[in-house]
Amino acid sequence: SGKSRPMRILQYVQNTAVQGDANSVISAVDSYCANVEWAMNVGDKKGEILDAVVLDVRPRWVLELGTYCGYSTMRIARLLPPGARLITLEMNHHYAQVAKQILGHAGLDSQLSPSPPSVPHSSTQGEQPVGGATHSSHSRWCLQEALIYTTLHCLQLPLQLFSRTSQNPLATSAPKSQEETAERQTTMRNSTCKVDLLVGASSALIPQLKKKFDMDKFDLVFIDHWKTSYLPDTKLLEECDLLASGTVLLADNVTCPGAPEYLHYVRNSPRYKSLYFPSQLEYLRVEDGMEKSVFLG
Ligand code: SAM
Ligand code: MG
Repeated sequence: SGKSRPMRILQYVQNTAVQGDANSVISAVDSYCANVEWAMNVGDKKGEILDAVVLDVRPRWVLELGTYCGYSTMRIARLLPPGARLITLEMNHHYAQVAKQILGHAGLDSQLSPSPPSVPHSSTQGEQPVGGATHSSHSRWCLQEALIYTTLHCLQLPLQLFSRTSQNPLATSAPKSQEETAERQTTMRNSTCKVDLLVGASSALIPQLKKKFDMDKFDLVFIDHWKTSYLPDTKLLEECDLLASGTVLLADNVTCPGAPEYLHYVRNSPRYKSLYFPSQLEYLRVEDGMEKSVFLG
């Protein structure tokens, strides 16, 4: 088996998922992570909330903070209309390379930049990701992830006893007719959406986006990187004038592990209209939820 969890997920995808079929790759990642090893993908339950928001917003420009293996990237990309652009930011080179391969298996065209160094060991230059995501921050993340992972596994049984069945998280938004949703999904499945996977720290990359992509504003931002970066990066998006009136921010894990400063901000700022969607943490019966916040300008 592979050397890292993302590599093992990739191998499982390559061995079991239908090439060129994003839904098959998504299911493969979900079954691996539900049955073999937990991983920090948004997962199938919250993934349905993400899907519904993407279909509702019909975004032209989408930003994702935190790619990991590309699971949520695939979920978003497969639902985008032709001509839409999805930019996803990942500070970890190894994760980004795995994500590129998983997206490739799903038949999604992605561009990884900067491309990985060709001579990784003998060269002293070119290894540092754009924006200086450092080895120590990577280690810190892995440690944090391992701690969350371990804690959740220890808590899994007792928490299952207490976790309650959450109500339909989408009950507050207008229900879409099955027909309309199915029709749009089919149209979109046949389209090719270009994914740009940028390797680097969000704080360094966000200020470069307007020029780099000759773009104006994002229609949808999926926030799912380090929880303590949710608020500073949201303020950075505001400062860089990347949010329009009507832009939707969707933040994952606002209950578990939680992003209290971010929640306090979007729920109390007059510049946002914010709504909580209760759900469960990926692959576990632990309460979690997503916060959908509409920027009002
Ligand atoms: N969105 C993914 C999904 O649902 O499939 C999961 C993303 S995972 C929870 C968070 C990822 O964010 C990690 O891969 C981590 O390396 C990356 N990350 C954390 N802080 C970051 C930052 N400031 N800039 C870019 N990437 C970051
Ligand atoms: Mg998440």
